[in-house]
Amino acid sequence: MSKAPLPPGSTIGILGGGQLGRMLSLAAARLGLKCHIYEDAEAPPAAQVSDAFTRGAYDDRARLAAFAKTVDVVTYEFENVDLAAVDILEPLVPVRPGRRALEVSQDRIAEKDFLTHIGLRTAPYAPVDNFCTLSESIDEIGTPAILKTRRFGYDGKGQARITDADKAGEAWETMDANPSVLEGFVNFDREISVIATRGLDGSVVCFDPGENEHADGILRTTRVPAAIPPALAQDAVLLAGRILNALDYVGVLGVELFVAPDGLVVNEIAPRVHNSGHWTQDACLIDQFEMHIRAICGWPLGDGSRHSDAEMTNLLGEEANQAISLTGAAVHLYGKGEARPGRKMGHVNRITPRS
Ligand code: AMP
Repeated sequence: MSKAPLPPGSTIGILGGGQLGRMLSLAAARLGLKCHIYEDAEAPPAAQVSDAFTRGAYDDRARLAAFAKTVDVVTYEFENVDLAAVDILEPLVPVRPGRRALEVSQDRIAEKDFLTHIGLRTAPYAPVDNFCTLSESIDEIGTPAILKTRRFGYDGKGQARITDADKAGEAWETMDANPSVLEGFVNFDREISVIATRGLDGSVVCFDPGENEHADGILRTTRVPAAIPPALAQDAVLLAGRILNALDYVGVLGVELFVAPDGLVVNEIAPRVHNSGHWTQDACLIDQFEMHIRAICGWPLGDGSRHSDAEMTNLLGEEANQAISLTGAAVHLYGKGEARPGRKMGHVNRITPRS
């Protein structure tokens, strides 16, 4: 497959049309590139700022083949992309990042197997397919533990904490009989993430680790720099590079980590631009969205160094309406219709001089 950089004027196909696709499209437009969004829902936020939009199912061979004809490279903005879509597209057009990153990150067991195989630490884990295996896994891992669906979990959905083995039945019922994984509870001091990029030539650039706070399983804020010693920040960045290389990855990857008293534990990886990387839009010369576009187009990666300290706060539901009165911060709104409680409608970046 050609490694020649795509020239300005080329078209990027994006599977998924949410806020991440929207911000990718905006970054691409600044570089003189066009975007064509493919998504199964009507009027996605990314379509408002893109050159073209196709509404189609992710297993619609004819529609995907027609989409492939109009684009020079395909990427995706969510990790639950149907692998059928990638199988249809890959013979027709480069898909970056590729299939392997999706396979690994779509299944929590495959993800943890991969991470431990390359020498990284995860929470102790065991597959759970029914109530019997859950009891066995609790004997092995102990409590407290967290039961999670293997697939399609996001923002803390599809998870149940088990503090008492006698209550395991209630936790299993919330899984709706879906294949699951039991994870040992990590007693972490803080949660951090690294947004890492690998170019088509194998070069790697990482943004400084950010420190994340969640509420009800949803990311609320990311602060940069994270309050961790420099050596640990270095470990986090090196670890992210190891993941990128092992996947022969092209593009931006989010790596979520627990800072435990005895070192870093990988929680999960996301093969896409990441909510905890939104601070880069206003605190770095080149943000995560441009970095991803540069990588998938075969361009040299940009300078990801940070010129400011930053705090990113997600705007959930109605909070987005109040944010319009903010003047000392950068407000990013996603153009979504209904402001349902807990729905990510935008975010605010506050920057201060670099400490
Ligand atoms: P996840 O969807 O796996 O990223 O989990 C959402 C949040 O739940 C994480 O950001 C943590 O705050 C918490 N969490 C998930 N897994 C664990 C674990 N094994 N130990 C402790 N906390 C966890």
